[in-house]
Amino acid sequence: MKAVSKEAYAKINLYLKVANKRSDGYHNIASIMQQIDLSDTVTVSVSKGDGSIDITCTDPEVPCDGTNIAARCARAFLGRLGKNDVSVRIGIFKRIPVSGGLAGGSSDGAAVLSALNEITGNPFAENDLKAIGAGIGADIPFCLTGGTCECYGIGDSISEINTYAVPSYSVLLVSPGGSVPTPDAYRMIDEYILTRPKYEGTIPDILDDIYDGKIPCRYLQNDFENVILPTRPDIAGLKRELLDTGAAAAMMSGSGPTLFGIFRRHGDAAAASEKLKEKGIRSWVCKPVLKF
Ligand code: ATP
Repeated sequence: MKAVSKEAYAKINLYLKVANKRSDGYHNIASIMQQIDLSDTVTVSVSKGDGSIDITCTDPEVPCDGTNIAARCARAFLGRLGKNDVSVRIGIFKRIPVSGGLAGGSSDGAAVLSALNEITGNPFAENDLKAIGAGIGADIPFCLTGGTCECYGIGDSISEINTYAVPSYSVLLVSPGGSVPTPDAYRMIDEYILTRPKYEGTIPDILDDIYDGKIPCRYLQNDFENVILPTRPDIAGLKRELLDTGAAAAMMSGSGPTLFGIFRRHGDAAAASEKLKEKGIRSWVCKPVLKF
């Protein structure tokens, strides 16, 4: 039996614009995704067997059957490889809040693809793995790439952002718990994009800041905030709490409900986390995962 463990990192969206709804029902976006060092630990082992995929997860909210994104990735990998004489076991130690807008499931799936590739002697190039992942979730190609990326299309068309000036900042995540049902979020976004000025699909000022190595806090944007915060006073209130603790900027990640604050100093993020704890608010102090 061969086993490999991988850290599956969460992401935040420093910028997220929904460009338009496509004829296939998906939405084109323009986004900057940033990996952060909050991670699930995903252990994958392969032994001789009958093609079964067993999955366990420490979080009871996560389905441990064929619908799990990690299991779907394993099934797709073995199918593409044409291998049905092995069994796969996947163990997920969950730390990323589930349904939080942090791509936890996609990251677990990416970790499984990467682990299976390693265990089977790297039969697939990185782009092939991304293509297998994209068939299951639009965020999986980003999770396989990591670091900081510009993302277009449905989020699966990505290019890495490499700068020489490395920004140093910390990220504090807070979550009101629960989830924002994805169909509700997209229904509200559909109404919103019909009424706002046409969006050309470019990422302006924040990209310049990132290339210049500046801390990305001046031009954070997320279209989902415009439609979700007015209907969710709990999330809007939590954003104010986060700013009150001294965050340089704060925003919702993806379609929420997790929010993140940007802090110039790690110690300030840790102090803010303590302040929030006194109020009974759970938070996670993180650093961006930078690849350069
Ligand atoms: P995204 O940011 O990509 O929209 P998310 O962070 O909001 O995703 P996830 O934590 O990935 O949400 O979970 C979304 C749904 O997928 C949940 O309903 C969850 O039950 C299901 N799911 C399937 N597999 C997993 C997994 N390995 N980890 C977490 N959730 C999973």
